[in-house]
Amino acid sequence: MKRQSVTVIGAGVAGLVCALELAERGATVEVVDRGRALGDGSCSWQAGGMLAPWCERATTDAVVATMGATSIDWWVRHFPGTVRNGSLVVAQPRDAADLTRFAQRTERFELIDADRIAALEPDLAGRYRRALFFPDEAHLDPRRALAALVERLGDRGVPVRFGVDLSPEAAPGDTVVDCRGLAARDALPDLRGVRGEMVVVRCRDVALARPIRMLHPRIPLYIVPRGDGLFMIGATMIESERRGPVSVRSAVELLNAAYALHPAFGEAEIVELGADLRPAFADNLPQVRRDGRVLRANGLFRHGFLLAPELARQVAEAIKMETNNADIPERRRA
Ligand SMILES: Cc1cc2nc3c(=O)[nH]c(=O)nc-3n(C[C@H](O)[C@H](O)[C@H](O)COP(=O)(O)OP(=O)(O)OC[C@H]3O[C@@H](n4cnc5c(N)ncnc54)[C@H](O)[C@@H]3O)c2cc1C
Repeated sequence: MKRQSVTVIGAGVAGLVCALELAERGATVEVVDRGRALGDGSCSWQAGGMLAPWCERATTDAVVATMGATSIDWWVRHFPGTVRNGSLVVAQPRDAADLTRFAQRTERFELIDADRIAALEPDLAGRYRRALFFPDEAHLDPRRALAALVERLGDRGVPVRFGVDLSPEAAPGDTVVDCRGLAARDALPDLRGVRGEMVVVRCRDVALARPIRMLHPRIPLYIVPRGDGLFMIGATMIESERRGPVSVRSAVELLNAAYALHPAFGEAEIVELGADLRPAFADNLPQVRRDGRVLRANGLFRHGFLLAPELARQVAEAIKMETNNADIPERRRA
């Protein structure tokens, strides 16, 4: 890539990963964000941080698994806090058919019995007869990961400036990468918001080594361990663009899921309730679109951390081509 100046607008996961990828490929990069500090107004701050391409394959387009598979290595290289312990999928005995259906729609898992569950997660011993173990999956704490990216960018001399509200058309640079998330809807009218709600609790009586997904016919949920007794319980997925606090119904469902996983969560402290809108296109897959010198990288939906490295790769490829729309690589279909 010839050395060029790039302004990245948005310091969510899309913007920061794109900025780092471009800086590593030799571009002169600057990042701006209208929030007062990292995470302020960013959907990425609410994420669970699961890097689970094969679990996602059970419910989404197979291309998500293809694109996401390589991203785990990207995160391991760029964020030492990435935990590669796999993930576990469980269901109550009455929902055993859901486990079978989930298994039929994906790959790269082991069907494990109660003894293996106990060996992997001692605190779940005796609670489930069967589970699906996805050994190659990973997870991270999104907030620590974003902070680590800002630090890495700083090490490379890439400034990340907060409190700067910029329109892509007015931004300086040979190329502008528009990573404004849902705020880019002024330029991407087919972008929609999908509401997600989550709870963070502190519970010192349960230890988990990996994310646990709990299948349920109506409300499949997950719990991600964050260390220091913290757990993120997520996430609702509601086709609504309502902003505002978590509803009582969602809070009850999320907390019930944790309580069903282990009764000790009944004594947990609620540390945080959070909600945001995931930016998504109609097919729930990310896209890079060129608009003159502006590249719009968006639509990460529920796969922000999982797919940002692939999105960044596509942005870097698009910049190298330096021509027009026709040159942007087709999204690969598995
Ligand atoms: C509850 C919940 C759980 C989730 N769990 C997961 C998960 O486990 N794994 C996963 O991979 N994904 C998960 N996601 C999805 C993930 O959070 C999103 O896909 C991702 O955050 C989208 O990132 P983004 O960078 O495109 O947008 P954002 O994070 O919203 O970033 C956009 C940034 O642009 C800035 N901005 C906007 N307009 C301007 C402007 N004019 N000038 C300057 N700056 C501007 C904003 O301040 C913001 O910081 C979850 C989402 C939710 C809500």
